[in-house]
Amino acid sequence: MKCRECFQFIIDYVENDLTAEVRTTFEQHLADCQPCLDYLESYRLSIKIGQQVCCNTENEALEEMPSALIALILAAKKKLE
Ligand SMILES: [Zn+2]
Repeated sequence: MKCRECFQFIIDYVENDLTAEVRTTFEQHLADCQPCLDYLESYRLSIKIGQQVCCNTENEALEEMPSALIALILAAKKKLE
């Protein structure tokens, strides 16, 4: 599996939508590829923070997070290209 292919599977992986076969191949690639692992981590973080923002409307500080997150994700994505 190449990084670009791996990248397409990240969302499905996080949502647990991959077949067992693809999932295994994906995990083998991740074990060997730090940039993809970084991207996966930042994707997971963005989901987590997204949920916090939704459930925590009183905390205005969180409104600052999305732009920082986008930068983080773009930086991780750049490493893949
Ligand atoms: Zn990779």
